[in-house]
Amino acid sequence: MNLIFLGPPGVGKGTIAKYIVKEKGIPQISTGDLLRAAVKEGSELGKKARGYMGSGGLVPDNLVIGLLKDRITKDDSQNGFILDGFPRTIPQAKALEESNVQIDKVLNFKASDELVIDRISGRRTCKKCNAIYHIRNIPPKVEDVCDKCGGELFQRGDDKQEKVKKRLEVYREQTAPLIDYYKEKGILADIETEQPIPGIVVDVMEEI
Ligand code: AMP
Repeated sequence: MNLIFLGPPGVGKGTIAKYIVKEKGIPQISTGDLLRAAVKEGSELGKKARGYMGSGGLVPDNLVIGLLKDRITKDDSQNGFILDGFPRTIPQAKALEESNVQIDKVLNFKASDELVIDRISGRRTCKKCNAIYHIRNIPPKVEDVCDKCGGELFQRGDDKQEKVKKRLEVYREQTAPLIDYYKEKGILADIETEQPIPGIVVDVMEEI
């Protein structure tokens, strides 16, 4: 089963994806995580992507599409995957189709701007394993330490308040048009995220 998790930054796509990975046994593929790994490694791609990511803008389509295509040819993706943060533009969606990647369902995660801003500004991420926390909603047992691997938790540079506004604008302009794009194909389902996590997971499971 091939799924797309669509929605503004901070809505909780990554958090919910981790639950669905456990339920369905398919990997979560986050282009944001792949890009951050490339930046950390200092690869050519990472060097090119870094400035765009730091500014809160999107990395050019050709770079991200290549990265994603390589990732979905790996063995673990052959029975399906969750795309978290891809596609983010109409050309990216078209590139998937041109590569004959069949998408079964697109989950459109919804929340007010207010809630999204609160979720992003309280988000903390593990440096080692990318686990996601929230200082109030999903706190770690020990402050700034990952429950899963003991890694250090930090606030992503682009999660800081001044970058969040720009990321939401970019979402509205470049990514939100995908809602109608997939609605017209009859594969879109809205998921209301203004409820506790277990309810969101149940709603997603009912749709897939
Ligand atoms: P995320 O972790 O999904 O919030 O992504 C962090 C940053 O990585 C975004 O703000 C973009 O700069 C970049 N990025 C991630 N996925 C994509 C994508 N599909 N297309 C373009 N840029 C992306």
